Amino acid sequence: MTTPYKHEPFTDFTEEKEQQAFHKALEQVQKVMGESYPLVIDGEKVTTDEKIVSINPANKEEVVGEVSKASQEHAERAIEAAATAFETWRYTKPEERAHILMRAAAIVRRKKHYFSALLVKEAGKPWKEADADTAEAIDFMEYYARQMIELAPGKAVMSREGEANRYIYTATGVTVVISPWNFLFAIMAGTTVAPLVTGNTVVLKPASATPVIAAQFVEVLEEAGVPKGVINFVPGSGAEVGDYLVEHPKTSIITFTGSRDVGTRIFEKAAKVQPGQQHLKRVIAEMGGKDTIVVDEDADIELAADAIAVSAFGFAGQKCSAGSRAVVHEKVYDAVLQRVIEITESRITAAPESADVYMGPVIDQDSFDKITEYIEVGKQEGKLVSGGSSDDSKGFFIQPTIFSELSPTSRIMQEEIFGPVLGFSKVSSFEEAIDVANNTEYGLTGAVITKNRAHIEYAKARFHVGNLYFNRNCTGAIVGYHPFGGFKMSGTDSKAGGPDYLQLHMLAKTVSEMY
Ligand code: GLU
Repeated sequence: MTTPYKHEPFTDFTEEKEQQAFHKALEQVQKVMGESYPLVIDGEKVTTDEKIVSINPANKEEVVGEVSKASQEHAERAIEAAATAFETWRYTKPEERAHILMRAAAIVRRKKHYFSALLVKEAGKPWKEADADTAEAIDFMEYYARQMIELAPGKAVMSREGEANRYIYTATGVTVVISPWNFLFAIMAGTTVAPLVTGNTVVLKPASATPVIAAQFVEVLEEAGVPKGVINFVPGSGAEVGDYLVEHPKTSIITFTGSRDVGTRIFEKAAKVQPGQQHLKRVIAEMGGKDTIVVDEDADIELAADAIAVSAFGFAGQKCSAGSRAVVHEKVYDAVLQRVIEITESRITAAPESADVYMGPVIDQDSFDKITEYIEVGKQEGKLVSGGSSDDSKGFFIQPTIFSELSPTSRIMQEEIFGPVLGFSKVSSFEEAIDVANNTEYGLTGAVITKNRAHIEYAKARFHVGNLYFNRNCTGAIVGYHPFGGFKMSGTDSKAGGPDYLQLHMLAKTVSEMY
């Protein structure tokens, strides 16, 4: 019997001993900085001349690691290896696969601070955010392992006289995992272990900004007992390797987390049946967001301001769940805005070298350039009321930035910026607030701060997002508690960490026997 699932607790960094332990972990990570990592194809470590260099976004001079870069030829070998391994892995017992995930979770848990410290270095995550990322990676493994055990016998269907019917699940095939840099551990691990535990084989192409954590996670999976060919690791360019993997006739599932533009391109490419392909491909896509916090006229100002500040600036707004737009009733608009500014300006933006740093850098030069351009747009469209400055001399630092007096249709209120930029719009009724909240092409998360029961019910029905929260922030979904995924251009509404997620990776088989 396995114990019931419970999410991994977060570290309390107000405790001196946890801070010391984390400093130690950072020192440990320091010792492996700059190391080289190979590709993994059919269990074989392959070193290439060309490398992807991962740097610390808080300190551009610091190399976190060098990872071999795959070519199309490597991608081809990885798909072939995965296709061959599939023929045995698909018939392994679901329980056996689930236990590998639990072992991998145990390995990560034992070195939890080490992995979080690596995330601090590789993505510039503040400690609390890094700790949550590692906890979520553990959660995905523990949760999907248990879910697989539950799904192993299939689901109940009816049988008539003389007939025995069963409804069972079977693996799908080679799965290409294209993972993001923002939840470089949690989403990379979650989207990798879900296909593995359901009997599929995986070709993993991690985000080029953060390949080191992925390389180390592949080592964890191997140590936990994933056989050769079942997990293959091919970091590489999207245009060269990504497209090749997506278009390959032997690919069955593509699971992607990233931008709307790349996601829609993958969706299109996957739809085309290639010569020799014997199935239709499935795409699981988690794309962007432009998420809104609605504040009602009767709202608790402190609660609203805190929810807005956390949602907008946690991990520098680099979450698709980030609450980058505040839509506030005119009666409380000034008070809420003022309080958000105070909270934001009391928090520290710096290199995440200690527990009190609230916000670190953004991921890379491209992001930095794009976000600072948006700040210029914001100055034209609205009123800059906080932040606005940036400095990329050492790392990619942008002050948390707030614009007020924005039209709900302005670019700042419509386009996903993926950085620490928050926009405020004023409304004169709750109904208008929900209309504004729905007026983007996205539908991922949202929050409503209100004490009005009728308004809660109104928003429940009419606020069209995959994850709707009341009287709290709109980030930080917990595996097994808040299944995560969005509507509209936010993706395929594949709810990661939810009760239906594993089925997306399996084929359902009806078996009917007469006796
Ligand atoms: N699951 C995360 C959250 O609830 C966001 C994931 C993402 O940004 O891709 O905050």
